[in-house]
Amino acid sequence: MKEKILMIGLGAMGSVLARLLLEQGKHVTVWNRSEAKAGKLVEAGATFTADIHRAVADSDIILICLLDYPATEQVLTGVSLEGKTVVQLSTGTPQDARSMAASFTERGAAYLDGAILATPSQMGAAETPIFLSGSSAAWKHAEPALRILGGGLKYMGEAPGAASAWDLAALSSMFGMMIGFLNGAGIMESEGMSVADLGQMVRDISPVLGQMIKDTGDDIQEQRYAEPQSSIDICAGTFELMVRLSAENKIDGGFAGFAQQMFRKAQGAGFGQERISALMKTLR
Ligand code: NDP
Repeated sequence: MKEKILMIGLGAMGSVLARLLLEQGKHVTVWNRSEAKAGKLVEAGATFTADIHRAVADSDIILICLLDYPATEQVLTGVSLEGKTVVQLSTGTPQDARSMAASFTERGAAYLDGAILATPSQMGAAETPIFLSGSSAAWKHAEPALRILGGGLKYMGEAPGAASAWDLAALSSMFGMMIGFLNGAGIMESEGMSVADLGQMVRDISPVLGQMIKDTGDDIQEQRYAEPQSSIDICAGTFELMVRLSAENKIDGGFAGFAQQMFRKAQGAGFGQERISALMKTLR
């Protein structure tokens, strides 16, 4: 008999996930707070069940993609999860994941926590990354269906918080770089130069930037701070210049000032002649 999958949440992401499963011939039931969003999926072969108790009872694998964990708690309050494989794909913190894993496991579910690192239009591709962690039984059960949603699936082990920790750490790296880029864009604009050219240049040097990030990660892991090629004192000078440039060119100095404070704190703690990895000592 065909496995029954329930998709809870038909927002921008959930509706795409349901459609991808339908396109691969899966038996899909959908549930959403606002019924109207189910219309096109029902036309494509999904079943809409308004009663969440019945929708869960009739399904084997429950995929959730709601706004957040509180919305999930709200929707599933009092619903029997006994014997179900539940995969949470809404974004949250590691603590959200641990709390939900404890509560849903106590209610008889095999719980897998997930984090999607892509936009709706990127879903379903061979490389689309989705991180998962939690019950290995749930992973084994849900993996074939999840692989339809993103070929770049990664199971991070039994700790339920691992997937969201990876997700938020990766997002921090990505948005941190994006914010630095926006500051650079301000510099280019204020000098009458092309921001598009800066974007192209950053893309061209991205393997070198990636290697620098990897080396710093290795240094922090190994607690290697001494014998810098480029000391904190030298790097701090960059931000002293950038703060001055912001004033001279009348552009927002928030980013430069934030970074300047980080470096000054490390210098004040006596790490000026150490590697950039030593900044981590002032963040702990
Ligand atoms: P949307 O805002 O498009 O959809 C939100 C969904 O949550 C809707 O189904 C909405 O129902 C439902 N919802 C919100 N509050 C409640 C509630 N109190 N009770 C019941 N249902 C509720 O968001 P997305 O689909 O874009 O995102 C969903 C999750 O996926 C989020 O956690 C997001 O971080 C994550 N994600 C999204 C990505 C993206 O690019 N969009 C990328 C990676 C992860 P209704 O339709 O009735 O309003």
